[in-house]
This record gives sequence, C-alpha cells and structure tokens, in this order.
Amino acid sequence: MTEVILEARNVYKTFQISAGAFRPKRPLHAVNGVSLKVHRGEVLGLVGESGCGKTTLAKMLLGLLPQSSGELLVDGEPVGDAHRLHTARMIQPIFQDPYSSLNPRKSVGAIITLPLKVQNEPNPETWRKRVEDILDIVGLPKQVYGNYPNQLSGGQRQRVAVARALINRPQVVICDEPTSALDVSVQSQILNLLQDLREELGLTYVLISHNLAVVEHMATRMAVMYLGRVVEEGESQRLFKEPRHPYTRALLQSVLTPEPDLGIPDAHLGAVYPNPVDPPSGCTFHPRCIDVMGNCSREAPSPIPTENGHVECHLYDTDAAA
Ligand code: SF4
Repeated sequence: MTEVILEARNVYKTFQISAGAFRPKRPLHAVNGVSLKVHRGEVLGLVGESGCGKTTLAKMLLGLLPQSSGELLVDGEPVGDAHRLHTARMIQPIFQDPYSSLNPRKSVGAIITLPLKVQNEPNPETWRKRVEDILDIVGLPKQVYGNYPNQLSGGQRQRVAVARALINRPQVVICDEPTSALDVSVQSQILNLLQDLREELGLTYVLISHNLAVVEHMATRMAVMYLGRVVEEGESQRLFKEPRHPYTRALLQSVLTPEPDLGIPDAHLGAVYPNPVDPPSGCTFHPRCIDVMGNCSREAPSPIPTENGHVECHLYDTDAAA
C-alpha cells in the first residue's frame, strides 16, 4: 500500500442553525465523525445525496473551513490557518462551474499566474513560461494567455481551472463535480484529461460527484456518505459489484439506464431525506432502509472493517446477530 497523503481523523463540523426569532439555535452536524485515508495516486470517489456533507468535508480538506473537532492532515501536516500556504501548495480544488470560478475581469494569464504570486515563487521572469507550459499540458494553445474567460468555451474554461489548480504542482486535487456544468459532449474530454494528468503528474484526486458513472470510470476507491458519516468505504470496483450497505445498494439501483423500456428505477429509498437538524435515532438511515431490524432505531452501528475499507450497518455486526 502506498503512503497516506490525506487523512481525516474523527472529524466533526457542526453549524449552529437559527430555528427562528426568539428560539435558541440548534446544532447541525454536517460532518459527524469522519475518518478517511487517501493514499498517494488514488482517486477517492465521494458520493451521497445533496446535504450529506461531501462539500463541507471537501472545504475542510482544502483549509477553507475549520473543523469543529478532529484532525485533518495533508502529507502529515495539519490543514489549517497556521499552515495555509503549505495546504494550498499541497492541495488544490477544481470546482463545478468554470463560469463562476474564474474571475471574468482577469485574463487567463493573470488567473493562472495568481497562485505563483500567492506562493511567492522565485524568478518572476519565468512565470509566463510556466503558465504557457501548463496551458500546453492541459491542451490549450498559448495564445489564450491574453484572453478573458468570456472569450472561451465551457470546456476551455474548465481547462483553465485545471491549469490554475496545477500550476504549483500540488499533490492532491479536490474535484467537486468537475464536469456537471459542462455540455455532455465535452464532459468526457475533461474526464480523460484528468485521468491523463493523474498518470503523468502522479496526482491524487478526491472526486465528488452525483454521477455514479463518472465515479465508476475514475475512482479507485469510493466512500459513501449519509447524513455526515461515511457509511461504506472500499475499493471502487468491489463496491460497484457487491455493495454491502443498504444505502449504497439503493444509490446504485437509482442509476438511470439507457434502456427506455426499463423506466425510472425504484431505489426503494421510501421516505424523504431526513432533516439533518433532527436526525433519526440509532442508525440514521433506518426510516428509509428496506433491511431495517429491531435494534436499528435504537443503536447507531459502529464501523465494521471489510477488506480494504469498512461498512456501518448492523447486518454485518456479528455481535448483534449472535
Ligand atoms: Fe438498515 Fe439497520 Fe443497516 Fe441501518 S443498521 S442500514 S437500518 S439494516
């Protein structure tokens, strides 16, 4: 197993949510005790419904949001204020929407040069050459250096966002829905570019996506989040073939197929996603679970080790089954 480049140790993030005038604020546990290890060269796919805590976790990994408790480490160094430049050098984001993530008033050259300035890179006279080199690597002609984002197509803008993320040669890239704002015709080009760059530059990715086909195509490992917890984690091919957690099974069953006769798949998720301010007792998935058992509403399941990962479900709890 390769070295761990990114690690979350029992990380919590709690927001205090207003419940209305004259009412006390209530805690919302957006991330509720997450422990994860990402090894160098892996692509960790982070999946789950909206509001499950994926983006909050990603923001904490980037040092954009402090955790309430627990530890986040990138290459063995804590992520956070005191280590902001180190964190930014090691880990960079690519966001969903290249239309809003690029400053429309700055030229492509200025956008990609900014991280070099922030990191006080030496030899400013070489910066233009470095920018032109990274433009070449992401498949853009160096003539776009003086262009503005509105002069580029969606796919070209996302390539600029990739170039900006990679100019300081980070070790880890957090890809937050990197293709969902793009036309279908250019989505695969950007995914292939990310794949090629990972191999060429030895990058590690955390890939957040609603699109399970994208995760299956890219990810080597997968972590499934539900109400702030990683309920199942493991090698991606194994999870797609033999999902263990009932929620993982439901997510995979909910994928639309290109067969019109098969209609809209029934994921058996039943009740709506619960209110995270008032989560269900015991296993928080129990109101929607088709395998629910007597103890599920009373006792929260603990992580149970699997080969190369874990699952949180009483179905695999040998003590409870005994
Ligand atoms: Fe379903 Fe119980 Fe497993 Fe939760 S612990 S996922 S309710 S079987």
